[in-house]
Amino acid sequence: VKSSIGLIGLAVMGQNLALNIARKGYKVSVFNRTAQKTEEFVKNRVKGEEIEPHYDIKDFVESLERPRKIILMVKAGKPVDDTISQLLPYLEPGDLIIDGGNSHYLDTERRFKDLTEKGFLFLGMGVSGGEYGALHGPSLMPGGSKKAYSLVEDILLKIAAKTEDGPCCTYVGERSAGHFVKMVHNGIEYAIMQSIAEIYHIMRDVLDLPTDEMSDIFKEWNSGELNSFLVEITYKILKRKDEETGKPMVDVILDRAEQKGTGKWTSQAALDLGIPTPSINLAVVERIISHFKEERTKLSKLYNKRRSALQKSEEFLKDLKDSLFFAMFMAFSQGMWLISEASKEFSYNVDLFEVLRIWKGGCIIRAKLIDTLRRYISDENAHLLESEEVISLLKERIGSLKNVLKVSIENEIPVPVLSSAYNYFMSLTEERLPANLIQAQRDFFGAHTFERVDKEGVFHINWEEGEIG
Ligand code: NDP
Repeated sequence: VKSSIGLIGLAVMGQNLALNIARKGYKVSVFNRTAQKTEEFVKNRVKGEEIEPHYDIKDFVESLERPRKIILMVKAGKPVDDTISQLLPYLEPGDLIIDGGNSHYLDTERRFKDLTEKGFLFLGMGVSGGEYGALHGPSLMPGGSKKAYSLVEDILLKIAAKTEDGPCCTYVGERSAGHFVKMVHNGIEYAIMQSIAEIYHIMRDVLDLPTDEMSDIFKEWNSGELNSFLVEITYKILKRKDEETGKPMVDVILDRAEQKGTGKWTSQAALDLGIPTPSINLAVVERIISHFKEERTKLSKLYNKRRSALQKSEEFLKDLKDSLFFAMFMAFSQGMWLISEASKEFSYNVDLFEVLRIWKGGCIIRAKLIDTLRRYISDENAHLLESEEVISLLKERIGSLKNVLKVSIENEIPVPVLSSAYNYFMSLTEERLPANLIQAQRDFFGAHTFERVDKEGVFHINWEEGEIG
């Protein structure tokens, strides 16, 4: 019997996804560049599931039902192109390749065009949820063509995470839409992670709280409006002790954050499209700064920080909680606005309401807040700042955020993402920004011209003329 689907790339994600698909009743053929990994996978993890290992790419392709459907879960970048090139000689027009890795959307754009011209079908599919999600139900963000999607829709809907609003999978949009949306998902993830980290920093270095107590606080927050996967894992992380030293695990982990690029790509795309995503940008920058551990250690000794312990109070904990809510909201606001703009610019035809729906389960940024966002999202209100309920949610919390920023500044704690959420909101809600002065400066040194508030047209003056003194 031929397999319903094939999967290439048996690292963490591929293994779990293959098992998930097989457990939903589909026969899966698998292949990995390094044969040993395939052998180990079959020996250690396959327990009665219909998973057929292959050690030759041609045999692998021939084991599949037609039209063939092949999911790639290989390292993003060149490995995807290499794998596609290896497959092509054995495929027939109408066969479907699905790239489930974190590919850059411009690579997906190129591959989509190339494969479509050759008569093949292609989906660029964002997969979120890590290894647990891949096995038990990820959030799936496939983009490409509707025709390609319809070939695998039944399988994808079955393996995706489920919520009361349906499976966390939908046809996201044209061509590279799926990978664009996944990229922004990761950008939002960066901003929320950094916001939580800044709150933790204040708890640790201003409130002087023991980690167990911080864990209890995050746990309590997670039972309310902040309920989310990232807050949940934070309270679990803070509870964990190092077996060797007995210390809290977080205290033995080096403060140098790594990244694989999806946050940076989000910022780059946002800058190119002219959409403000300061929380995402600064979350990326802060990971970069964290890398300079030696410099930071040296400089910290030259600039002794002023830090006075603040007594924990119910009021201040509420301020922290409301600030995190505010920052989380702004991360989504910026991300959704970016997706909306990309959808227009690249003719993706993305349904923002559906994107939020498939982020409700399975993925890393799943959060209770998404239900609120879904009530108000639209192409006209993609940044979500316009509805009555949102206005009052934000107004109620702005005092708390100001207080948290004040305490951070007084104690010389860096809070780039919390403050960027504040500044993003304050800039967007300011009728008259000081950009008039910038226009004057540009005109002064570069004759770049300016518009006037009192009449139509484009103006330039000779700024040195008539100078006083
Ligand atoms: P990796 O990104 O570590 O990729 C390893 C896999 O890629 C192996 O199967 C490896 O084969 C294969 N590979 C590497 N180079 C080549 C090549 N030149 N030709 C053919 N195959 C190659 O694995 P992950 O499981 O972590 O991730 C897979 C994809 O899913 C990535 O794009 C990742 O960004 C994305 N992703 C990962 C998540 C995670 O939590 N890890 C979450 C969501 C998405 P070999 O065994 O022969 O080396």
